[in-house]
Amino acid sequence: MADLTLRDVKKSYGNLNILHGIDLDIKSGEFIVFVGPSGCGKSTLLRSIAGLEEITGGELYIAGEKVNDVPPSKRGIAMVFQSYALYPHMTVYDNMAFGMKIAGESKAEIDKRVRAAAEILQLTKYLDRLPKAMSGGQRQRVAIGRAIVRNPKVFLFDEPLSNLDAALRVATRIEIAKLKESMPNTTMIYVTHDQVEAMTLADRIVVLKDGRIEQVGSPMELYKHP
Ligand code: ADP
Ligand code: ADP
Repeated sequence: MADLTLRDVKKSYGNLNILHGIDLDIKSGEFIVFVGPSGCGKSTLLRSIAGLEEITGGELYIAGEKVNDVPPSKRGIAMVFQSYALYPHMTVYDNMAFGMKIAGESKAEIDKRVRAAAEILQLTKYLDRLPKAMSGGQRQRVAIGRAIVRNPKVFLFDEPLSNLDAALRVATRIEIAKLKESMPNTTMIYVTHDQVEAMTLADRIVVLKDGRIEQVGSPMELYKHP
């Protein structure tokens, strides 16, 4: 469970200002989608929340704690990227288990979490497969599974479907909708430029334009009027 607060969050590269002071309150368990044209700063904002980018102004709080100076690994977040980098020589099971093994978790705990994640993502019958024997959509589900087993408080998605073909995109979007249902306490933030993804997944949509928030509202509120 974690709420997020962004207070006047700014990001610049040298004298190039990318985010011009973002104010946003995200409730625990909310599914927030960032939309907006290419280059408006969606990915920069998400990466700033993750701590992969250092913000140059403002404050960022996760579950009440100011995290400006907290490294990514200590923020309780997990992130799913556009392109999934699975270990090719490891089975699906081992791909999902790897981080926990490194962290020294017990075999029983690893097994419990991997199987629970596989169940949610309908990967149970593929646990012994190698990534090369799976479709792109299935591989992206393994990447999501790797993030789930971390027990994140906040789940971040950076255009997770954009490398998939149209049919797989729909199927994987439905999986993500189920994931949202099965992890109702986990706050999720999702970046896309796809309006259908935004409308079907979001509790609230944040529309960004030129590094500023242009609009915030539920899908109904934003898309009721053309
Ligand atoms: P979006 O995700 O909405 O497409 P981004 O957050 O990726 O937008 O990028 C926002 C702007 O920041 C773009 O103009 C991009 O060129 C610029 N930008 C991103 N990363 C860097 C960087 N490392 N150095 C300079 N400019 C960057
Ligand atoms: P561990 O589980 O011991 O942290 P990993 O090999 O899984 O080890 O990860 C190495 C580092 O990369 C960690 O510091 C972790 O925070 C970060 N990391 C790995 N996977 C993710 C992810 N999906 N989202 C965010 N951070 C991640």
